[in-house]
Amino acid sequence: MRVAFLGMGIMGRSMAANLVKAGHEVAIWNRSGGKDVEGARSAASPADAATGAEVVWMCLSDTKAVEGVLFGPGGVEQVLAAGMIIADSSTISPSATLRFAERVKARGVDYVDAPMTGSKIAAEAGSLIFMVGGDEAALARLQPLFQAMGKQVFHMGETSKGQATKLVMNLQIALIYEGFAEALTLAAKLGVDVEKLLPLIQASMVRSGVVDYKAPFILKRDFSPNFPLRLMLKDIRLALDAAKESRVRLPGLEAVEEVYDVAAEEGQQDLDYAATLTLLEKWAGVEVKGGA
Ligand code: NAP
Repeated sequence: MRVAFLGMGIMGRSMAANLVKAGHEVAIWNRSGGKDVEGARSAASPADAATGAEVVWMCLSDTKAVEGVLFGPGGVEQVLAAGMIIADSSTISPSATLRFAERVKARGVDYVDAPMTGSKIAAEAGSLIFMVGGDEAALARLQPLFQAMGKQVFHMGETSKGQATKLVMNLQIALIYEGFAEALTLAAKLGVDVEKLLPLIQASMVRSGVVDYKAPFILKRDFSPNFPLRLMLKDIRLALDAAKESRVRLPGLEAVEEVYDVAAEEGQQDLDYAATLTLLEKWAGVEVKGGA
C-alpha cells in the first residue's frame, strides 16, 4: 500500500521501517531532520508525505502535535482525498480524536485511532498490540499494515474507543510500576536481595509484564528512554482529565501524578518513566542493586 508515516520518534521510526520491510511504499516525515528510514521517501511536509497516499499513519507526542500535523500549515488536510484512511497510533485525547475524525469525514476520509502497547522493543520487533477505534471496513483495509507492525489487534468499538482504552491501559502500567518501584525501594531498605526477590515476584500472583520489561533495565541502572517519563505523565493527565469529565475519582493515579510531577521538575522528563524509582530511592536514602 502507499503509506505516509508521520513522526519518526522512538516508536514511529521502527514502525515505518517495518512497513518498508513488508514491501509497502512509504513516505516519511518528521518535524526535525536527520531521521531517515532506509527504503522510504523523506518528505518535506505532512502534506507532501500524504500526497497520493492511501493511508496516513501518525505516531506523534500528543494531541497538539496531531492537530498541527493534520490541520496546521503544510498539514495533511490540504491533500485529503476521498477513500483515504487516517490512522493515529499516538496516545491523545479521546474527545479531540472525535473532533478530528468528524472534520476529515466531511471530506470522505476514514479516521481510525490505533494506539498501541509494547514499547520500543515491540516496535522494533514488529510485535506491537493495537487497540483500535473505528469502522470495521476501514480496519479490514488496514490489516496488512497492522500485520507488518504488530502481532494483535483489538477492535474496541467506534472512533475514539481505542484512545479511551489506551488511557485505561496506561493508568494500570503507571500504578503497577509505582507498586513495583515502591516494593523495590522498601526491599532495599530492609536488606532483601533484589535478585532473589525478582524470581519470587514472577513465580507468584504478583507477576506482571511490566516487571518482565523493566527489571533488566533497573538492574543495569539503564534509565534511557523506552517510554519517556514526559509521555507517561501526559497519559496520566489525559486519564485524569477523562476521569474528571466523566465524574470518576482516581485517587491512586492522582498520587502517582505527584511523583511524576516532582520527577519532571527534577529534570527526569526525557528519561524512561522507570527513573521515578530514583526519586523513591533518594527519599529513602537507598539504591536498588542486584545482589544487595
Ligand atoms: P518520541 O520519541 O518523543 O517521538 C515523538 C514524535 O512526535 C517525534 O517524531 C517528534 O518530532 C514528534 N512531535 C512532537 N511534537 C510535535 C509537534 N508539535 N509537531 C510535529 N511533530 C511533533 O515519542 P514516542 O515514544 O515515539 O511516542 C509517540 C507516541 O506513541 C506518544 O503519543 C506516546 O505516548 C505513544 N506511545 C509510546 C510508547 C513508548 O513506549 N515509547 C508506547 C506506546 C505508545 P521531533 O523528532 O521533531 O521531536
